[in-house]
Amino acid sequence: MTYVKLFSAILDLLFPPRCCFCGRLLWEKDGDGRYACRACEEELPYAGKDDGLTLGNCFVWCRSPFLYRGIVRSAVLRLKFGRAEALAGPMGHYVAACLKQYGKTDFSVVTWAPLSRKRRARRGFDQAEAIARRTAAELGLPVEGLLVKQKDTPAQSTTRSRSDRAANVRGAYRIRQKGAAAQRTVLLIDDVVTTGATLSECAETLLRDGAELVYAATFARTEAT
Ligand SMILES: [Zn+2]
Repeated sequence: MTYVKLFSAILDLLFPPRCCFCGRLLWEKDGDGRYACRACEEELPYAGKDDGLTLGNCFVWCRSPFLYRGIVRSAVLRLKFGRAEALAGPMGHYVAACLKQYGKTDFSVVTWAPLSRKRRARRGFDQAEAIARRTAAELGLPVEGLLVKQKDTPAQSTTRSRSDRAANVRGAYRIRQKGAAAQRTVLLIDDVVTTGATLSECAETLLRDGAELVYAATFARTEAT
């Protein structure tokens, strides 16, 4: 047993891993599912394989492991409104696993659709950033905050139609440092995708800065898109 394995075994004894969806302790009988218990694993609403291929025209595609409902939806709500920052780790893991499954992991940089400074301060952390950092770590890729949200727009969840959502985020983002995205293939991360308005706006900002291609991935996607 290597020291790393021994260390993680001791950590598991001191802080036994819990299911990220229901909080139940994960015992050995749950097998190698380190993030979800068997019961939750069976309930997970996996997204279809062809979903998200044609969402926006600014990014190549958007991949999401799950549909935004049931235990996946409650996990996102807990992450965002229950300050459950620790949930971002497992979510980033599922996003990375999804991209590996599709065989596309060779991005030059991972970034995220950021919150405005005001909302980030209120929430204490940026959930998309936290997911992006974990996804990047699991894929062995660099992660950089390439975008800034310069307008504190109302939350997308308060808007109704597709055109409302697009109008709500128009001009909301700018590049943090001019040229930072230039000639790079960017993986753009967010927690949930609905119409793709936010991701399109972010992708357009990256492309205007010279990004070669932008791909997107989110933990969950709503079904009506
Ligand atoms: Zn569970």
